[in-house]
Amino acid sequence: MTGSGERVVAVVAHPDDAELLAYGTLRRYRQSGAEVTVVTATHGGAGVSLTDAADGARIGHGQRMVETAAAWAGTGVDVTGLGLADGALRADRDLITLIEQELAHRSCTTLITHSPRARNDHQDHLAIGTAAHNAATRLPQVRTVLFGQPHAPGARFTPTVAVDITPFLNDKITALARHRTQGGRWYLDAPYTRHRAADTAWRLRPHAAAEGHGFEGFETPLLTLLHHDAKETSR
Ligand SMILES: [Zn+2]
Repeated sequence: MTGSGERVVAVVAHPDDAELLAYGTLRRYRQSGAEVTVVTATHGGAGVSLTDAADGARIGHGQRMVETAAAWAGTGVDVTGLGLADGALRADRDLITLIEQELAHRSCTTLITHSPRARNDHQDHLAIGTAAHNAATRLPQVRTVLFGQPHAPGARFTPTVAVDITPFLNDKITALARHRTQGGRWYLDAPYTRHRAADTAWRLRPHAAAEGHGFEGFETPLLTLLHHDAKETSR
């Protein structure tokens, strides 16, 4: 076993989702010695940028995964894709089994995914959140599950877990900008990223917010603390 013994897997629907939900958190995990993997379920082929769509543009299946690889280049975070078609994911047996295999293969101890309970969120996000949470409950080595913040309006997200991402906030903005095919989307631009980090800080850690810190926030259905038990960590 290397590093912290923590193996973090972010299971998300589309290229760019892991950066949106948890870029700074995944970087912090990596910095602390965890093995970190981003698993993107779809190739994101339907996500043509607003400006390019107006010109009738299409994007190739591999193009958005190339952008995701560029977003994480040099960070030590592994990126892989399941190659599913986006827009119509269902949390059925096939998807749950596929994700369970990924989590088992990577001996996942901490799962980060979409909130399955968010309102108004993209149908693929809800399907992945549901399927990934379901898969994680079957695996004894998964000790912590975190749901990242959706960007849908009125999503009713109530974070209880806060991660200080101040040292990685500028890198997060740069990583989101690597998704060039998505240019023009407000939720990928710096003002929203900075707002969200500050908003989460003011909601959960106002003293830190007052000192200029930014946070990523998570809901959690499972959070295991102080798990340095030899038997548990070797499983
Ligand atoms: Zn998405």
